[in-house]
Amino acid sequence: MARYTGPVCKLCRREGGKLFLKGQKCYTEKCPVERRAYPPGQHGPAQARRRKQSDYATQLREKQKVKRIYGLHEKQFRNLFVNAASVPGRTGDNLVVALESRLDNVVFRMGFAASRNAARQLVRHRHVEVNGHVVDVPSYAVGPGDEIAVRPKSKDMFPVVASLEARTRPTLLEWLALDEKSRVGRMVRRPTRADIPLAAQEQLIVELYSK
Ligand code: SF4
Repeated sequence: MARYTGPVCKLCRREGGKLFLKGQKCYTEKCPVERRAYPPGQHGPAQARRRKQSDYATQLREKQKVKRIYGLHEKQFRNLFVNAASVPGRTGDNLVVALESRLDNVVFRMGFAASRNAARQLVRHRHVEVNGHVVDVPSYAVGPGDEIAVRPKSKDMFPVVASLEARTRPTLLEWLALDEKSRVGRMVRRPTRADIPLAAQEQLIVELYSK
């Protein structure tokens, strides 16, 4: 599926906040969101001065924000939503857990890649194994007990080493385990919404798609 290859900082400015789409670089580079706090484009500054936005616009922006954080297209995102709505539990929570369980996200959370985009590339280029088998599908749903590893021939690749060395996350998320030296990690248990550090109101997304 085609993916967005334009400037990612524009996406953050459009959503009016830091989405950390460049991963660790966002902590060290000058952030355009801080320097130009208005949406991109010719009418950006005028949009920033507009009146309070409608409920629909608020819901739409929340959906776009989460979609962009995880680097998904509309169809993929909506499919995840449909699945989340069809299983027991709160749909919003199910959606966030499903997003977080994607293989590219787990690779990013373990620190093998500096951003979700870089993690997606690592998976696509067949550098990642799940339970001893190469998996090159970024949307693969990782389950409890699954072992995620960088392939032995790839474990000393510069992006992997640099990402692990430059990790700014102080601790690994509780539901993941990692042996940094051997580049092998594991999903210890399925995360709950409370375990996931995502600043989003998923209820707005549920409201939007339920119209
Ligand atoms: Fe977003 Fe990072 Fe760019 Fe800032 S530096 S606008 S957080 S991608």
